[in-house]
Amino acid sequence: MFSEVFRLSSDCIFCKIVAGEIPSKEVYEDEDVLAFEDLHPVAPTHVLVIPKRHIDSVSTATDADAGVLGKVQVAAAKIAADQGLKDFRVVTNNGRGAGQSVFHVHYHLLAGRRMNWPPG
Ligand code: 5GP
Ligand code: ZN
Repeated sequence: MFSEVFRLSSDCIFCKIVAGEIPSKEVYEDEDVLAFEDLHPVAPTHVLVIPKRHIDSVSTATDADAGVLGKVQVAAAKIAADQGLKDFRVVTNNGRGAGQSVFHVHYHLLAGRRMNWPPG
């Protein structure tokens, strides 16, 4: 049922989180988007915001994914507002060389400490 609705990938940990097969600390959910706390936070606030349907990464997204990726970013802003965060970073890693380790596209919402630029 879930896989029909969201086109879940059976060997993807974030699809398993969407399906409820792996527990997570959820902070936001709507029809298309799920957000949950990162297992290994690198900032006082470290939330992962993902589309429920599987997309490998930004570079594999198509025009058909533009709407849901926009919703993911708007959801990140809503979460930040709900948590009273004025300054935060929303970042996605694309490809192993850029630090992507989970190939279900996700945006890191980071806040609560100084954000350096450029990122390492
Ligand atoms: P990436 O390295 O792909 O940009 O980010 C993947 C993120 O997913 C990492 O920050 C990592 O800590 C987090 N992560 C990996 N596995 C799990 C998991 O099972 N649950 C949660 N909540 N986060 C995870
Ligand atoms: Zn997935």
